[in-house]
Amino acid sequence: MNTEDTIAAICTGTGGAISIIRISGMRALQAAQQVWRGSKPLDRTNARQMLLGRVRTSATEPGDPALAVYMPSPNSYTGEDIVELHCHGGALASRKALEAATRAGARMAEPGEFTFRAFVNGKMDLTQAEAVCDLISAHSDMALHLAERQIEGALSKNIGELRNDLIDILAECESRMDFTEEELDWTESERFIAKINAITGKIEKLLKTGREGIILRNGIRVVLAGRPNAGKSSLLNLLLGFDRAIVTQLPGTTRDTLEETANLRNIPVKLIDTAGIREASDLIEGIGIDRSRQSIKQAQIVLWLLDAAADNLEEEVSEMRLHTADKPNLIAIWNKIDLAAHRQLPQLKYPTACISVTAATGIDDLLNLFEKAVWEFPHTEEPEIAINARHARLLQNAVEALPGAAENIASGDWELAAVHLRDTISALGLIIGENADPDILDNIFSRFCIGK
Ligand code: GDP
Repeated sequence: MNTEDTIAAICTGTGGAISIIRISGMRALQAAQQVWRGSKPLDRTNARQMLLGRVRTSATEPGDPALAVYMPSPNSYTGEDIVELHCHGGALASRKALEAATRAGARMAEPGEFTFRAFVNGKMDLTQAEAVCDLISAHSDMALHLAERQIEGALSKNIGELRNDLIDILAECESRMDFTEEELDWTESERFIAKINAITGKIEKLLKTGREGIILRNGIRVVLAGRPNAGKSSLLNLLLGFDRAIVTQLPGTTRDTLEETANLRNIPVKLIDTAGIREASDLIEGIGIDRSRQSIKQAQIVLWLLDAAADNLEEEVSEMRLHTADKPNLIAIWNKIDLAAHRQLPQLKYPTACISVTAATGIDDLLNLFEKAVWEFPHTEEPEIAINARHARLLQNAVEALPGAAENIASGDWELAAVHLRDTISALGLIIGENADPDILDNIFSRFCIGK
């Protein structure tokens, strides 16, 4: 992306009461001065003040009232001169204002281009820019907290400290190449190796946050499965907090899979309600049942509902076994226990919850089992750092070079040790965006929306 042009975009979503047009670049002020007129001039003397005026979208009309604010470089989001015009909402009015800005010399911004400029101008590093995207797409409080911490620089700080430690070790290796032992007061090799081991430990700890990162950024697929009438749709509606699926006493009413995003115990999930699994009575039900089987295969967690009030409880269980034989992360749920208060329910080898959707009992126990299945490891409520897939790849490259560096230091091969250390340092640098390949940057910023 070129950074010479002055760019403009509508930064707010359609349908709001106000629409903000952001103009950034060397000619932002000039362009805005042509589009907007007010009683006070839009210039450096009035910087950072909201000024009332009008946006002139044509030479003949007076234009609509709008506020304008000028944020001079370098103290703006992009680090460039920025002008924001706050106009009346409405798709047409804001598009006309944007077109007026482009006629005045700006060009339409690409997705993520404002944040790209902030990155290029050193307002944020690459992990912080990525977190801006995470923040916009966050679906749970935990994901939001994580994005906020990353924007504040929690991950950058960690990477920066690791790099600085490695740069110190590299400097010492390089000086050993250039000077003899008598000329310098050297640190013991063992101390270097201990430092390298400590760095390895820290990188491995960061790598472990990857799973958490994937869950919080992408969410997980949770499938509700079971025989017809077990209560899948009722449970879906209860978990969503509103009626999404049709609940009836007639078995086989959910004939296709339904998908909804939700938030369970702060974990973003895609909840999938499937057609009940049984012998299909017609072609359409058969297709639905095939889809259910497919969904179970792709699910990260399966919630299998068993009807505790069914005539034959063993049959309920054997149907579940048949369809989930080798499925990890299966949670069995005896539903309708309000109708089976004194019944002896078969013991299962899976984590099992006993619930009644209609009486809303046992749901907390079910969510506890769910949470345990998701995290699988000790987990804090508010993770401070959770890396993404790109960070994981680079951290893996970084850590792989460290045993070689330690061995070479032990055997006194300073030159080779330096090569390994440089590999690690450059992999860590790529995480925060140093010497990042333009293709990689394009890939990251193209995921943003226009105007961000
Ligand atoms: P699905 O076919 O598995 O999606 O099942 P539904 O959610 O449509 O429920 C089938 C029937 O069972 C409906 O009449 C529900 O009202 C009823 N039902 C669901 N959960 C419970 C429960 O916990 N207790 C009782 N008594 N009835 C339930």
